[in-house]
Amino acid sequence: MRILLVEDDAVLRGQLRTALEEAGHIAEVADNGRDALFRGETESFDAVVLDLGLPQLDGITVLQRWRAAGRAMPVLILTARDNWSEKVAGIDAGADDYLTKPFHLEELLARLRALMRRAAGQASAVLRCGTVRLDTRSGRVTVDGQPVALTSHEHRVLEYLMHRPGAVVSRSELTEHIYAQDHDRDSNTIEVFVGRLRKKLPEGIIETVRGLGYRLVVP
Ligand code: CA
Repeated sequence: MRILLVEDDAVLRGQLRTALEEAGHIAEVADNGRDALFRGETESFDAVVLDLGLPQLDGITVLQRWRAAGRAMPVLILTARDNWSEKVAGIDAGADDYLTKPFHLEELLARLRALMRRAAGQASAVLRCGTVRLDTRSGRVTVDGQPVALTSHEHRVLEYLMHRPGAVVSRSELTEHIYAQDHDRDSNTIEVFVGRLRKKLPEGIIETVRGLGYRLVVP
């Protein structure tokens, strides 16, 4: 999933970025409030990790402006220890969850998974579509209980589709969500990944919607 990480502390930002990438996510970073505001308004993210104490524009203001502009992505705020008024202000501004510094990276990843599942209307950590199961904690994919080996890009395509069962997802949307921004993007490669996925998954589960994109068919 594609996550915007907003944190001005370079050391923490580096740790978080590594943890997100190791968990299979695309991590885009911003180190100040203005940059964060712009990217959150103009790009599509599956979730945001937002530090509140930021240079140029504070995190609460950034969040308020996103929500006022109708940006609805799940936002997890990072707050200073023992600052309960900051938590209240953050939740009032539209945060979906918060973590108090210092925190364990595992907890951050678990909370993000939960936020993205809820945003997708999925209550369980295991996404299901027919006989296909995708465990968002371990990344394990099975068909009829049998493990299926996927490359990281195939996995990202499937995970994105499984968070949106039945919805039409365009090729450009998939491209945006499976590649980092500085990557040389080519939407033709999406076709290749989908083609490979189809060979590994039950027949007919990924439907091509002509001129629009792809749809995960819910049996
Ligand atoms: Ca800070």
